[in-house]
Amino acid sequence: MKSIGLYLHIPFCIKKCNYCDFVSYSQNDEMIDSYVKALLYEIKMYSDNLSDYKIETIFIGGGTPSILKPEKIDKITNEIFKAFNISENPEFTIESNPGTLTDEKLKIYKDLGINRLSMGLQSFNDDILRFIGRIHSKKDFLENYYLARNIGFKNINVDLIYGLPNQTSCDWEETLKEILKLDTEHVSAYSLKIEEGTVFKGLFDQDKLNLPDEDEDRNMYHLAIELLNSNGINQYEISNFSKPGYQCKHNLIYWNNKNYLGLGVSAHSYLNACRYANTNNIWEYIDSIKNNKYPVVTKEPKTKEDEMTETVFLNLRLKEGLGIQYFKDRFNKSIFEVYGDKIEKLDKLGLITIDHNHIMLTKYGVDVSNQVFVEFL
Ligand code: SF4
Repeated sequence: MKSIGLYLHIPFCIKKCNYCDFVSYSQNDEMIDSYVKALLYEIKMYSDNLSDYKIETIFIGGGTPSILKPEKIDKITNEIFKAFNISENPEFTIESNPGTLTDEKLKIYKDLGINRLSMGLQSFNDDILRFIGRIHSKKDFLENYYLARNIGFKNINVDLIYGLPNQTSCDWEETLKEILKLDTEHVSAYSLKIEEGTVFKGLFDQDKLNLPDEDEDRNMYHLAIELLNSNGINQYEISNFSKPGYQCKHNLIYWNNKNYLGLGVSAHSYLNACRYANTNNIWEYIDSIKNNKYPVVTKEPKTKEDEMTETVFLNLRLKEGLGIQYFKDRFNKSIFEVYGDKIEKLDKLGLITIDHNHIMLTKYGVDVSNQVFVEFL
């Protein structure tokens, strides 16, 4: 049986954060009921399509899945296990936001086999949390974090953002040091991007956002690498760090350009060299499912060349880089035969480095990674 990852999108949040452009709606019981009903049906619709696959990872993401009543997560999980072949011990993650977890919810998650909790903290500075529109404080986070630990969650990711308005390298260092005290297994640290349609984009256009400059942003990134690596939380991807053995298996499926099925509004899938995207509109999503139609709005078959290119730049995100032998085994061609001139150019520019079996971004290459990826397009 072929391996696959499963993603389910829960597009509800208590309120929209000021920087967020994800598809998410504010909490509304009626909408949630209709959505979960549709999602359960979409799971059933894919049951036959996936009969040759074994699901190795399950990721319930959002939005804020932890705002759902736990019986809804229970129903979704039961439907997944009924519809698909699930490996014996899948990595099973749920995303959550501090302030939305309770003793009851966490116990139910644990009983359902959810073995990885991802918590959106972003910063340990309460002033910054308020300014970026988060619903929680540092105290809320700590209460939820220790509750999860006490209930027995042994694999916790904490999401952080740097380059935030009014944030200095000192603030960021404080956040990282607090994280280290928690002894968490996994950390994601992304630089803030100002996205279209967000509150921050409006403020940015009016010159009302006090953002760290490019140098300080890079400084914060390098600080994260230095502090986390030197404390045993090792960088394994441009923005992801973990203790040994705790890399996120689900996200590794994306970075290795392998198959995954995404269900729910705005979810994406990659199946048999074809990319699919579900509609971004929740009502359109619910209507399609009601009419027994897949809510897919784009279908993009990939040629062998596309697949090679995407594998190269996704793999280059990984610290260990792109496996030279892996590429040969997967595509039956040497990477140097396909991209020899580009590799030579990037090597000369000091953006990549090559050892006996891997091609990796250099420190400078990571800082300008988009420039490297574009080279392969
Ligand atoms: S909680 Fe996450 S998904 Fe929801 S609005 Fe904030 S950043 Fe977006």
